[in-house]
Amino acid sequence: MNYHNYYPVDVVNGLGTRCTLFVAGCVHQCKGCYNQSTQRLDSGHPFTEEMADQIIRDLSDTRIKRRGLSLSGGDPLHPANVPAILELVTRVKEHCPDKDIWCWTGYRLDELDEAQRALLPYLDVLIDGRFEQELADPSLLWRGSSNQVIHRLSQRAQESVPAVE
Ligand code: SF4
Repeated sequence: MNYHNYYPVDVVNGLGTRCTLFVAGCVHQCKGCYNQSTQRLDSGHPFTEEMADQIIRDLSDTRIKRRGLSLSGGDPLHPANVPAILELVTRVKEHCPDKDIWCWTGYRLDELDEAQRALLPYLDVLIDGRFEQELADPSLLWRGSSNQVIHRLSQRAQESVPAVE
């Protein structure tokens, strides 16, 4: 898996202060894509073991407390990214069980295949769906267009993340 950016401190992509990883690779080709440079799987930089270690260190940092990890892109659920994302989220939940994981994808929840669905138990929040330019609305929280849905998958997310229509 390749990635484009990693923000060790981010307050925009999800609830609270977070670490955010933008991975490379997306098949959806949405008109008006705000991250076109991330669509190619071979763009960006290799996501290494050292990067995963860095994320765990940042999430464990007690000086700047992060609420969790956000995965965006590109598409973290691109089939070629799923094995590396599964390894990452497994590590995060093992080493940082108090942190939540949010993930953005261009697939709808009901379109996910078996391999993609294997990630769901590790995700607290999934924001799904392609970006639809005709439905774009800059006032939407955590989404680009109103067709996208914020799925609060875990009990923790249901209790702490506001339900957004
Ligand atoms: S899903 Fe996101 S990254 Fe992929 S084409 Fe659509 S807007 Fe761009």
